[in-house]
Amino acid sequence: MMDKRIVAGSYDQKEDQEEITLRPKYLKDFKGQKQLKENLKIFIQAAIQREESLDHVFFSGPPGLGKTTLAGIIAHEMGVQFRATSAPALERSGDLAAILTTIGDKNVFFIDEIHRLKPIIEEMLYAAMEDFEIDVVMGQGPGARTIKIPLPPFTLIGATTKTGLVSGPLYSRFGITSRLDFYTEDDIKSIIYRSAAILKIQLDEEAARTIAHCSRGTPRVSNRLLRRMRDFAQVWGNGFINREIVTKGLDSLEIDSLGLDKLDRNILRTIIKAYGGGPVGSETLAISIGESVDTLEDVYEPYLIQKGLLQRTPRGRMVTEIAYQHLGDREDQRLLF
Ligand code: ADP
Repeated sequence: MMDKRIVAGSYDQKEDQEEITLRPKYLKDFKGQKQLKENLKIFIQAAIQREESLDHVFFSGPPGLGKTTLAGIIAHEMGVQFRATSAPALERSGDLAAILTTIGDKNVFFIDEIHRLKPIIEEMLYAAMEDFEIDVVMGQGPGARTIKIPLPPFTLIGATTKTGLVSGPLYSRFGITSRLDFYTEDDIKSIIYRSAAILKIQLDEEAARTIAHCSRGTPRVSNRLLRRMRDFAQVWGNGFINREIVTKGLDSLEIDSLGLDKLDRNILRTIIKAYGGGPVGSETLAISIGESVDTLEDVYEPYLIQKGLLQRTPRGRMVTEIAYQHLGDREDQRLLF
């Protein structure tokens, strides 16, 4: 459901071809996150000098901020192979063993949504991360025996939108941990320029600034909005994206001046109309808007909170004065309220 949103930070399979061309391959092309990049550069350089694998890396943060991209960049910068999977795809311990036993020396193995690992797989990963070996059970019944299989040193990169759900023992095995946060508008603007250059899209500064302003501080959203604006510019004009196209385009997509879409506004309105502005518990709220608690907490709330529209309090979610003002400003809001 969330993938249908134009402003979703999450990934939509259908757009993958262009996504892949837009994915930076090296640190120098990765915009923003200055401190994180500087640190990674040093850790990578040091590991290369010592001819060792890079320590295991853990990235957390909302979807679309570049966790997968960074994992790929680390592999490129280390000059090693990159293997990627996501925790829900690892159903049996055999699935993990099959990958680990074929992984090359110092290679990078990326697991997305690492908070969703099954306990048995997580256990296997502990030994793999710490001692570079795994126990594999051969045969069945009384004749079954366990054999230890040594692994080459490798780098596990785990990513999650939910750090709180990662177990202590797993988290503690990562030597490098970092949280990615929403990007500044200037960083998003430079990502838009970079993507426009790669996709040969023409736009002016005002258009780039307006798209950046409505991109929720999320590179994946800015890339997606840029492509939609390209469509509008092509059909409504001569292909050049200017402010007028962007303003009209955002209006057609029902994205407002803060980058909120209908679903975001629906969350705020539901709290206001049905719960007197809050507090309301996340489970109750999730049911009211027809979403899962996970989606509500990972996908919608972080940006609403960052913009100061929503507060998480011990008694539940509350909208803020800023939310009332923002919704009240909109013409269509008056009709709907
Ligand atoms: P996540 O794994 O956190 O959900 P991704 O790594 O898939 O996010 O990033 C989504 C898209 O955003 C990528 O395809 C890439 O093109 C773009 N992107 C992310 N971070 C950056 C960045 N810092 N600089 C340039 N492009 C970025």
